[in-house]
Amino acid sequence: AKARGKACYQVFENHMHEMLLDRLDQEARLREAVHRGELRLHLQPVVDVASREVRGVEALVRWEDPERGLQQPGSFIPLAEETGLITEIDRWVLNEACRTMREWQETSPATAPAWVSVNLSAANLEVPDLTDRVAYALASSGITPDGLVLELTETVLMRDIEVTAGRLEELRELGVNIAIDDFGTGYSSLGYLRDIPVDVLKVDRSFITGLAGHRRQQELVSAILQLGHTLGLKVVVEGIETEEQLDLLIALGGRFAQGYHLGRPEPVASLRARLATVTAG
Ligand code: C2E
Ligand code: CA
Ligand code: CA
Ligand code: CA
Repeated sequence: AKARGKACYQVFENHMHEMLLDRLDQEARLREAVHRGELRLHLQPVVDVASREVRGVEALVRWEDPERGLQQPGSFIPLAEETGLITEIDRWVLNEACRTMREWQETSPATAPAWVSVNLSAANLEVPDLTDRVAYALASSGITPDGLVLELTETVLMRDIEVTAGRLEELRELGVNIAIDDFGTGYSSLGYLRDIPVDVLKVDRSFITGLAGHRRQQELVSAILQLGHTLGLKVVVEGIETEEQLDLLIALGGRFAQGYHLGRPEPVASLRARLATVTAG
């Protein structure tokens, strides 16, 4: 039994060792990904529910891993966040998104969305030159600051409210907009809506799942929409997957929506081609 225990332990140890090597390997490859140009920008439309027109787009990163193919954020963002690589990835997405929008606005102004939003993980708030990075993305692309939205999750915003509020003030002085992402999933009070300069609320898709047939949930969504609109904010509801959910959202007073039913994230060129056909036809 003792020998068997030892053998088991050996198997376990080898397994741990392999996992560690795997992780180091993936970290090294992810580190190179930015420099090798393996990151890809996908865009998901944000739609005005009344006209069904695309008003904005959210930039969502993908990694074209030469070994494993196209990777979704869930498979590499956590590692990027743990290792600090995320601030380099976010910087790439920021610049690429601004550059893409400028090009789109110049070549096909009729179909170009009014704004692009970019996700910023928590670590960005500790980057001393974050404001300079954003200013650079604006200046080098030439887009107007009002066409850029920076999305931060509720949990990020609640970490150290005074420091965060200061940093966001700086960013807002550039003229860009701040969005609270995954709104409604944090645990703390709504106090940060008072302390933090915000322009957009993105209501988490967990509020939409099961919306049909759940009166209480509908009332909650309606209350969030009213709260946002009363504060003069733009409210974008995420995760619209069916026509029924869209109709309900409209009935509840929603104005902007995002979700698979309205458009999945896709490469820039294919979204542009699709929108060009819609407008032409
Ligand atoms: P998020 O910011 O909340 O982005 C929305 C996610 O929900 C996207 O997943 C999108 O594809 C997905 N989604 C959109 N509509 C629907 C729908 O109707 N149903 C369902 N089930 N899902 C929908 P994605 O692209 O896999 O990104 C996942 C998360 O990864 C993002 O969540 C964001 O937190 C993070 N992420 C993505 N790109 C970046 C980036 O450039 N920087 C940082 N820091 N994080 C990023
Ligand atoms: Ca987001
Ligand atoms: Ca979200
Ligand atoms: Ca999220």
